[in-house]
Amino acid sequence: MATPNSKGGFSGKVAFVTDDGPTMPGRRDVLKAGMVLAAAPLMGGVATRAEAAANPPVANGPFTARAYGNTSATGPLGPVQIKRRAVGPHDVLLDVLYCGICHSDIHQARNEWSSLPTVYPCVPGHEIIGRVQAVGSAVTKFKVGDIGGVGCMVDSCGTCENCLADREQNCLKGATFTYNSPDRATGENTLGGYSEKMVVSERFVIRIPPGADLAATAPLLCAGITTFSPMQHWKLSSRQRVGVVGLGGLGHMAVKLAAARKTEVTVFTTSPGKVADARRLGAHEVVLWSDTGAMKPLANRFDLLISTVPEAYPMQPFMDLLALDGTLVNVGALNQLQGGLIGMSMAFGRKSLAGSVIGGVAETQEVIDYCAARNIKADVELIRPEQINQAFDRVVSKNVRYRFVIDLATGRKQRT
Ligand code: NAP
Ligand code: ZN
Repeated sequence: MATPNSKGGFSGKVAFVTDDGPTMPGRRDVLKAGMVLAAAPLMGGVATRAEAAANPPVANGPFTARAYGNTSATGPLGPVQIKRRAVGPHDVLLDVLYCGICHSDIHQARNEWSSLPTVYPCVPGHEIIGRVQAVGSAVTKFKVGDIGGVGCMVDSCGTCENCLADREQNCLKGATFTYNSPDRATGENTLGGYSEKMVVSERFVIRIPPGADLAATAPLLCAGITTFSPMQHWKLSSRQRVGVVGLGGLGHMAVKLAAARKTEVTVFTTSPGKVADARRLGAHEVVLWSDTGAMKPLANRFDLLISTVPEAYPMQPFMDLLALDGTLVNVGALNQLQGGLIGMSMAFGRKSLAGSVIGGVAETQEVIDYCAARNIKADVELIRPEQINQAFDRVVSKNVRYRFVIDLATGRKQRT
């Protein structure tokens, strides 16, 4: 394992461009800045003198960046200036291009998770695609101009048994999440990808294969890995029966990923208007689960059910649908679950209720490569940063088809 990035201080070996005013770079920085300039055509960036003046190089310290966040649970998100840490030896600086909107962003911005209270200002975003703008002196995985992805974590202890087993999401000392976590390097609250710049340890940056549709790849970094990981863990294989409960961002990725395994996929939705979409995405069967009559014939049928519903709901009707040794994996509802499970039913059918959270770094790279090889991508609706609040409202009212992705690159270009 790479060592955790605990030295977030001045590195002296990076060169980058930020929104801050100009300062004189040191001699070594000039060399690295030359590298940035040489890469400019690749980056679509600082190729001309005028553009260079608009994006001047700055010293290797913390810097400010434009972001979109809120300052209270009831406040809308709007533009904010945030501080990013200096680029340390193991860090990469990303110029964020796209960031997906996950329902978790809404839960966090609105302080809806009782066990993870929100620290304000809150800048959400953990489905991030960016172009590498600078690298620290010890970085080996990326060079300036590469495309990198960041999911829900930006650090972990790196030494506990779970980290050593590539399960950083289950870090025994607590993973550092991309937002609303204490940064192991600075102690400050992490701020996410609704932002034009990110500084992230290279260990937590995922390689994005050349030629990928970048906007439609962003959601794989949370929605994709969160649904891929349980399929891997429970060894979902062809001809098995899998059910996906809730057809939103996670749900639509679950359907695509399950269909790619040649499983028999059933979607459980509350939205009659999504039935045709569910079939187009790869479902063999679609059930409006408010209809108890439609649920009954499906008893004892499913090997795996993945529930993406963001709120607690009575789960026994779904436990009834599991076959012997089947598992209902809840990834959606992260507050207190509803009781009412029947012991006899679970015991006689040796059924399990499980939870699962995102996936490790290696598994996230795996789902990105898996999807690139099979041309699997999210169905996205691209929005401008000023549309984030409307997008939040549409996600909450189940009216997303099927992931909003913020186009940060265009927003930035329009201002310059
Ligand atoms: P989403 O896009 O809003 O999709 C959720 C879907 O669930 C909705 O489209 C809707 O589908 C259904 N639904 C919503 N409210 C419902 C309700 N009250 N009752 C029944 N069904 C309802 O959300 P998402 O981004 O996919 O995220 C889903 C949940 O997973 C969120 O709570 C998020 O925080 C959590 N999450 C967990 C992890 C993890 O690692 N465990 C990772 C990412 C996200 P239909 O219209 O088809 O009914
Ligand atoms: Zn997410």
